[in-house]
Amino acid sequence: MPNLTDLSLLEAASALRSGDVSSMELTEACLERIEALEPQLHAFLAQTPDLAISQAKAADKRLQEWRKKPEEPLPLTHGIPVAIKDVLCLEGIPTTCGSRILEDFRPPYSATSVARLIDNGVVVLGKTNTDEFAMGSSTENSAYGTTHNPWDLDRVPGGSSGGSAAAVAARMCFSALGTDTGGSVRQPASFCGITGLKTSYGRVSRYGLIAYGSSLDTVGALTRSAADLLPLFTAMAGHDPLDSTCMPDPVPEIDLDDCNLTGVRIGVPKEYLIEGIQDEVETAVRSAVKVLEELGAEIQEVSLPHTDLALPVYYLIAPAEASANLARYDAVRFGPRLKSEKLWDQYLRTRGELFGPEVKRRIMLGTYALSAGYYDAYYGQAQKVRTLIKDDFETVFKDVDLIACPVAPTTAFRIGEHGDDPLAMYLEDIFTLPANLAGVPGMAFPVGFDRNDLPIGMQLNAPHLGEMALFKAVHAYQTQTDCHLRKPDL
Ligand code: GLN
Repeated sequence: MPNLTDLSLLEAASALRSGDVSSMELTEACLERIEALEPQLHAFLAQTPDLAISQAKAADKRLQEWRKKPEEPLPLTHGIPVAIKDVLCLEGIPTTCGSRILEDFRPPYSATSVARLIDNGVVVLGKTNTDEFAMGSSTENSAYGTTHNPWDLDRVPGGSSGGSAAAVAARMCFSALGTDTGGSVRQPASFCGITGLKTSYGRVSRYGLIAYGSSLDTVGALTRSAADLLPLFTAMAGHDPLDSTCMPDPVPEIDLDDCNLTGVRIGVPKEYLIEGIQDEVETAVRSAVKVLEELGAEIQEVSLPHTDLALPVYYLIAPAEASANLARYDAVRFGPRLKSEKLWDQYLRTRGELFGPEVKRRIMLGTYALSAGYYDAYYGQAQKVRTLIKDDFETVFKDVDLIACPVAPTTAFRIGEHGDDPLAMYLEDIFTLPANLAGVPGMAFPVGFDRNDLPIGMQLNAPHLGEMALFKAVHAYQTQTDCHLRKPDL
């Protein structure tokens, strides 16, 4: 048996079924790996070893019973150690969103996505680091220190789900949950050489996800391959009466063994392979598209003409919605209170001292864009352009089944590189934002390495609720290639 943490999620699931390993052994192997690597990586904001051990015990007990009646259904996630981005509530466990304003906040309930995974037998190792309130592309905006990229400790893991991506890439867990408002699952997956799914808007319940941009936020997951991701997605997705934005549509079942790309039409948007993109990213994406073609896909060039407007539109809509969502941190209802004699001063002091600079920048921008007199010119106008971006996708999806494009213009950048330049940081999101504005799903997966041996990612997008087509295509690619099997030297 190889090192237990090197098993894929599916290999671990089958070893659990056969009794070759126990959930406790997997859990202990992950906890040891976390202990050894956490000082270098800082992927976690809270570790939950006691919870993990009790869940592993329960999982092993259930496995023993199951082995007597193997005809009973048992989810593939059963007994598998995972981590959770610290913007998703886990009952009784500190949930900070990487912010001082929620320091020591312990939610009285769990997010539906988390509760469904727990019902499906997962073992929760802890909460992972994130940019404050998921605002950022590097995890450097966490109030609790940055996470380091396992491929090069001087570089960022991407963000905002950087803790989750680093933990999966470093084999600290088999999978981790992330959230994607403008790219925060796909971009860190790309920077860390793993597979990440941004789900369709409304596909996975957001009950218990601490809101950032409500018309954009989605819950997703990061793993080492599409095949490993599927059982998490099917466990989490589907209607939730607790979230009125969660779609009632059933989640189709698919058989990954039967993934033939013959006849699948894949569009490559000409607006994405633009000047300024790192050569090696472009080359790797083009060769991955060739591999998909060799697997039977029909490739054609397509156009998403409003692509260059996605960045300004997103950076109006997301801060506007964030400013409304973050108004609730008023020093009265959640988190610590910095007392002052006057109530107004208490608000000012608490919000002024406990929110970080990027969050305050977004609240200022967003409040301005929503203010009377400017609403129509900024937020209203941005919503209209958003419709054009969404229409671009709808038009292209009449002709193709999937869209292939890069995840980010570069591979992982150095910690501090965009430190005093928010615009340079926002530009990192240029290829991921359109899918959020259009509400469509996207899967990022590794397709190569640059001259510094840093992973290069590519993404496929599908029509709304078309996740299964992404699983099939990425799995087909991963059965023919081995980028997703490489792991960082740590
Ligand atoms: N980087 C983008 C932002 O800062 C996206 C973040 C996200 O998807 N949560 O808003």
